[in-house]
Amino acid sequence: MSAVRLDRLTKTYEGQDRPALSEFSLDIAPGEFLVLVGPSGCGKSTALRSIAGLEVPDAGSVWIGGRDVTEVPPRDRNIAMVFQNYALYPHMTVYDNLAFGLKLRKTPKPEIDERVKEAAALLGLDGYLERKPKALSGGERQRVALGRALVRRPDVFLFDEPLSNLDAQLRVHMRAELHKLHQKLDATMIYVTHDQVEAMTLGDRIAVLKAGVLQQVDAPLTVYERPVNKFVAGFLGSPSMNFVEAVVDGTAVRVGEARWTAEGALAAALSAHAGAKVTAGVRPEHLALSDAPGALRGQIEFSEVLGAERLLYVQTAAGRLGVRVAPHQKSAIGANVGLLPEAGGLRVFDAADLAIGAAAPAVVGA
Ligand code: ADP
Repeated sequence: MSAVRLDRLTKTYEGQDRPALSEFSLDIAPGEFLVLVGPSGCGKSTALRSIAGLEVPDAGSVWIGGRDVTEVPPRDRNIAMVFQNYALYPHMTVYDNLAFGLKLRKTPKPEIDERVKEAAALLGLDGYLERKPKALSGGERQRVALGRALVRRPDVFLFDEPLSNLDAQLRVHMRAELHKLHQKLDATMIYVTHDQVEAMTLGDRIAVLKAGVLQQVDAPLTVYERPVNKFVAGFLGSPSMNFVEAVVDGTAVRVGEARWTAEGALAAALSAHAGAKVTAGVRPEHLALSDAPGALRGQIEFSEVLGAERLLYVQTAAGRLGVRVAPHQKSAIGANVGLLPEAGGLRVFDAADLAIGAAAPAVVGA
């Protein structure tokens, strides 16, 4: 039985001409950490709010623990939601902030005490229970917000961009904390973010949405390495995958004068597309500087040193391409270089932007 099942959820807001969500189906396993990711406006929050019961879908259903809760009010769904704006009560201590929801539900005092202390211990807030929020750092406040969800002992945790108000360093820290928490609790967590790094690092699986339509749902590395279409390929990865116009030529693609050969399943699949206009995609870490025949020639336009690596930007007839190299790689501006995808690094997308030669895609919404 899935912990949460979304069955063809569809929602169009009043006054909008296109649906915020279209036929969105997804099965989330008990104990899974599922990340919903996509650009702003793709329908992530609408999906999450539908699970919480804060939005009512026009069509489709929401199931939690095998029960159809589509018509069930939020308070009876046994879910807890953590938002970006965690809005703690400023006049209350951490203890009272954690206890407040339980008091409202008339939970017996000893049980409140037990649950608050348990959550505080899990989150490392033991020493802070008598403090007011203004005496806490941003990260500590966010942990209190998490604690408020924990004390509810919900069936499902819902997170709506909970870390986006924190500075970069704290986000990395809280990401690790959330990861640990998920392992300790073994709880079902659904997490919405537009941040692809958060998605990659937190999710057991990630579901990529575009304009209300599910594109792909799979383990993070699978989505990264085998994107089902050009949108998913371009959304994950920073800097993003390089895309160039190309024409299929045997088991290779021609990019202007250059010829990039494919391997394995892609090579076999390409033969069915002879002469087709396609988009070739290569991630910056899969492009190598090479003078071998078939390389795409260009000039180094500029480079960025990031400490552990250097990014070269090479201007070619097919556009500017990013290449990830070692930090001390020679990179004279204006130098003429050749670019070749490393073995297995080439991806090819057809005229409809679908990946050619991808394994049977885990697309539900296509
Ligand atoms: P995301 O969380 O991915 O940024 P949302 O689910 O918030 O996306 O929104 C999806 C689409 O629905 C967007 O086009 C947004 O403008 C629209 N939308 C969201 N909430 C409302 C609302 N209450 N009324 C009208 N349109 C809305």
